[in-house]
Amino acid sequence: MRGFTTKIVHSDRLGGIEHGSLHKPVHATVAYGYKDAEDLAAAFQGRLAGYTYGRQINPTVEALQTQVSAMEGGLASVCFGTGMAAIGTLLFALLRRGDHFVSSAFLFGNTNSLFASFATHGLEVTFVDATDVRQVAAAVQENTKLAFVETIANPCTQVAALAEIGELCRRRGLVYVVDNTMTSPYLFLPRDVEASLVVNSLTKYVGGHGTALGGAVTEMGAYDWPGFPNIYDTYKGADPRLWALTQIKKKGLRDFGAALAPEAAHHIAIGAETLALRMERQCASAMALAQFLDRRPEVGKVFYPGLPRHPQFERAAGLFRHPGALFSFELDERLDIWAFMNALRIIVKSSNLGDNRTLAIPVAHTIYYEMGPERRASMGIDDSLIRISVGIEDIDDLLGDLDQALASVAG
Ligand SMILES: *Cc1c(COP(=O)(O)O)cnc(C)c1O
Repeated sequence: MRGFTTKIVHSDRLGGIEHGSLHKPVHATVAYGYKDAEDLAAAFQGRLAGYTYGRQINPTVEALQTQVSAMEGGLASVCFGTGMAAIGTLLFALLRRGDHFVSSAFLFGNTNSLFASFATHGLEVTFVDATDVRQVAAAVQENTKLAFVETIANPCTQVAALAEIGELCRRRGLVYVVDNTMTSPYLFLPRDVEASLVVNSLTKYVGGHGTALGGAVTEMGAYDWPGFPNIYDTYKGADPRLWALTQIKKKGLRDFGAALAPEAAHHIAIGAETLALRMERQCASAMALAQFLDRRPEVGKVFYPGLPRHPQFERAAGLFRHPGALFSFELDERLDIWAFMNALRIIVKSSNLGDNRTLAIPVAHTIYYEMGPERRASMGIDDSLIRISVGIEDIDDLLGDLDQALASVAG
């Protein structure tokens, strides 16, 4: 069994590419021509493995799907134009009107908005504190089909009861969807906690360079799809483990068209080659910066699963290779959050996370603004909360930048 980076770096080449090209080329095409009309028909009917139309299939995107499956240790993957498209298409393809699902209440803001939209379109959702498996268990109803959690939540870094929820889902026959974006397959394999399907926003750590949006759903092969009532007969192929992914691809991706562009797939595949190297450095820096801020009088609470005071410190240590490259902190309420932000010289005032550059954002006033003060309060998001996504800069420069910005507002 080869190591994580060896597998990724050699994944394209082992497929054998024309001219011995080491990278899968960008196949900038929408359609595929056939010499033989019967073959064209066979490809469309699924009797011949072949290319049909760019909305569902492209060789460059397929190469990335192979990479993602290798990273997650999954059976197969489907890529999408964004992480949101991956989540939305997955739920759209697998759930029907009247179905219920349980979701962690600590969610990426746009996923929260998406689930609220699904609720108005006839799916039932219950939000629970997923750090506690008992709350998830108590929310399960007769019509519950699925549970959705993130590994480390945004922005307050709660760590879901990942293993316990996996066990609950197996016992109750629920589809277990884990959004692995915040940890990435380098820090954590949801396969180890019995996830059925794994979601990744490739926009973040996997791509890493902030140059392309993308998302993926990976089938882990653990769920008993013949026992799931929502699979259409047309998608029940020879291998039942692939029924759901086929439906997500054929029904979801084809109907909605949230396809990943081949150029974006190429950017992301190159970024993925250095995922482990970047993560090692970003996580080490996140730990150093979180510890630094934790000691500062100008700073209130620091939220980072690598600090022993974090409520899920031990769970994170048991599950993840490192406790992540993102943390949040509350600036002392007597200090001006805007003056502090504007004093930063290297750290960029920006949304996004997982970039090579360190990014800072006042979350209540930006990405969590629309959800309103009540829901923010229920998620523990204070107006003074600043989220830092740690990049790959030299640690002394980052420490120096935070130090001078704190000194400038406190002085
Ligand atoms: C960013 C993010 C998404 C959505 O990804 P996009 O590629 O921006 O659409 C989903 N889940 C989590 C945890 C994220 O951080």
